[in-house]
Amino acid sequence: MAGVPSGRVHNLINIAAYSVLAAGVLVATRQSLVAVAPAQALNFTLGFFAGTFLLSPDLDLADGQVDSKRRWGPLGVLWVPYGRMFSHRGLSHTWLLGPLTRLVYLGLIVGFAAGLLRFAWPQMPLPALTLPQPLGLKVFAPLLLGYYVSQWLHLMADGVRPDHGMRHGMKKVRQVRKRL
Ligand SMILES: [Zn+2]
Repeated sequence: MAGVPSGRVHNLINIAAYSVLAAGVLVATRQSLVAVAPAQALNFTLGFFAGTFLLSPDLDLADGQVDSKRRWGPLGVLWVPYGRMFSHRGLSHTWLLGPLTRLVYLGLIVGFAAGLLRFAWPQMPLPALTLPQPLGLKVFAPLLLGYYVSQWLHLMADGVRPDHGMRHGMKKVRQVRKRL
């Protein structure tokens, strides 16, 4: 599609935006305008770069040579069903639900792999995944924020507006209505 940035361009845009944001936060912290704990900054960064390099909205291209898919190495094939499920720049490219679809999909893959492992090795000790409440929120909120910001930058670069989800949904409803 003409005018749509490639994976490489998306990565560069996100890295540039991150640098500007990080510099801004650093200055604001020095001036005591904001207080960002190092752990919060680290989690935001992790979420942001996981979103940029591993969980890009363009994973909706099942057969395409997507930069994000390549970064998964041999595990990249796990994203092919995701690409088949979602049309390119459809629901996957919406502002709220789109990023969530990739998180849920990833959760299903991890859950399935854990289930298989448990089946093959029933005595496997389970990792303690429960974090104390306040700590859990402190870890997950910046992680999720970083992830979503990386996705929104991608959507902005694609020229996708925040109301894309609603317009996409309405289009679907109209199509169904026409068929009835
Ligand atoms: Zn895109």
